[in-house]
Amino acid sequence: MEYKVDFLVIGSGIAGLSFALKVAEYGQVAIVTKKGAMETSTNYAQGGIASVFGQYDSFDLHIQDTLKAGDGLCKNNVVEMVVKSGPERIRELMNWGIAFTQDSSGNLELDLGLEGGHSQKRIVHAGDFTGHAIEQVLVDRAREHANIDIFENCTAVDLITCSMRMKRGIVTAAHEDVCCGAYVLDNETNEVHTFQSKITVLATGGAGKVYLYTSNPDIATGDGIAMAYRAGALVANLEFVQFHPTCLYHSEAKNFLISEVVRGEDGVLIDSQGRAFMGDYDPKKDLACRDVAARAIDSELKKSGDDCVFLDITHKDPDFVRERFPNIYQKCLSLGIDMTKEPIPVVPAAHYMCGGVLVDMDGRSDIDRLYAVGETACTGLHGANRLASNSLLEAAVYAHRAAGRVVKDSESVINEVCRDLPPWDPMGTSDSDEAIVVSHNWDEIRRFMWNYVGIVRSNKRLLRARNRIETIQQEIRQYYWDFKITSDLIELRNIAMLAELIIQGAMLRKESRGLHYNIQHLEKDDKLWLKDTILRRPFVG
Ligand SMILES: Cc1cc2nc3c(=O)[nH]c(=O)nc-3n(C[C@H](O)[C@H](O)[C@H](O)COP(=O)(O)OP(=O)(O)OC[C@H]3O[C@@H](n4cnc5c(N)ncnc54)[C@H](O)[C@@H]3O)c2cc1C
Repeated sequence: MEYKVDFLVIGSGIAGLSFALKVAEYGQVAIVTKKGAMETSTNYAQGGIASVFGQYDSFDLHIQDTLKAGDGLCKNNVVEMVVKSGPERIRELMNWGIAFTQDSSGNLELDLGLEGGHSQKRIVHAGDFTGHAIEQVLVDRAREHANIDIFENCTAVDLITCSMRMKRGIVTAAHEDVCCGAYVLDNETNEVHTFQSKITVLATGGAGKVYLYTSNPDIATGDGIAMAYRAGALVANLEFVQFHPTCLYHSEAKNFLISEVVRGEDGVLIDSQGRAFMGDYDPKKDLACRDVAARAIDSELKKSGDDCVFLDITHKDPDFVRERFPNIYQKCLSLGIDMTKEPIPVVPAAHYMCGGVLVDMDGRSDIDRLYAVGETACTGLHGANRLASNSLLEAAVYAHRAAGRVVKDSESVINEVCRDLPPWDPMGTSDSDEAIVVSHNWDEIRRFMWNYVGIVRSNKRLLRARNRIETIQQEIRQYYWDFKITSDLIELRNIAMLAELIIQGAMLRKESRGLHYNIQHLEKDDKLWLKDTILRRPFVG
């Protein structure tokens, strides 16, 4: 089937939905999304959105906090633009119907939370379900809009560019190329549809699933970054993966975060022998920042060979614990862990991808008509490390700017669309009878990325990882050509691509900065590496 639309939006998180709602009055929008529309990282965001509303806060303080976290790699003009756009975007979300929590003054002022790295209270939130509150309102509004169609359970496979050669897996593009849409697999019928569009927006979120442990939902397989790279777009800074120190470790609990506030309330990290170990790593002990805590846990696990460490808050009054952490308490209890009586098993987990498709201040990639917004983009806001709660802000701001740019350009775009797109070429015709290949490679990638390219890296581990990914990539390529594609195979192909790019970035960056920590290069090297790690697919003529 072929669909022709004005705007193709791939992804239904805060970035994709905000963009769609803004451009819908100018043309027909198709949103394609891998699962149900609500199944996004946005939906799981707990803390909130950082923005300057506090009496003692200022744009300058928020800018300084962001730059400090970014460890030299933030783009100053981007940081300033995003921070200053914050209050307007928050007010817009409120006008759309999102009920952020108000303080107790009765003056309709926003209640502002404080998070690590922020010098002031500035986290706008809706209880501890901020992401869900945003996602629900945006999905409802998009469903109601006459000009928006949401295609659920549809997985974008590859972008279509004017120069692409129609051979699956060998998409070629020069950087002056034009994007004309995407091939999209209907996960239920296994049919591949052609979506022709005047503007295509990647809003596919992060890539946490590249790692064995992640706080991200299953959709986070880096598809947008992989598709853009295959199409020839520039991608950047993929070695900067943020790890959250404490994700619940339990076979039945996927992706459940144990908030850092538990450490803030005197929770202590201990090993399997009950030894508190944070004092070995930082004078602030358990109040050390996110990255230090994640590295300390990683180091303890590598030394002991244990599967997890534990977060102990049993020394506090049980009533206080139950009242302060109602969600965490209930979740743990449902899995047979009473956190008032026993320590919680935890591991660090891949949480946020700072790198992505390289874009300008309006979210434009270097392929014409191709935009990237939200976690899938690399805007220059986060640099080498993201300041907590700056990501929802970035997504809202860039969706707004991209929409503004598209609307401005729309007149000239309308008459120039490439026509007669090649239909999808189903190279492999038979159904695979070896699904084990997909699941085996999937597990192997996630495990070696965790062990070799995780929180603490070394030259030797990176080399091992590169050797492994090269072999696996060959196997996947072969499999991709021989068999009909499935959503599992598409995701495997994409996590393999992301793994390769993360390894490449990490091998190139011979220093430790922000989230990238290599024991052979412990110092920062401002002379050589005060810059982005930019990668482009080699041109295949
Ligand atoms: C547990 C958790 C807590 C967090 N807490 C906070 C917080 O408090 N504050 C904060 O600022 N940030 C937080 N973050 C980060 C933040 O939630 C994300 O960065 C942000 O929501 C990303 O929004 P997005 O629109 O870019 O992508 P997402 O919300 O992840 O949406 C991605 C969309 O793309 C779709 N998609 C992906 N690939 C394809 C494909 N091939 N074809 C079709 N569709 C596709 C998905 O189905 C999904 O609809 C948190 C993240 C997690 C996981």
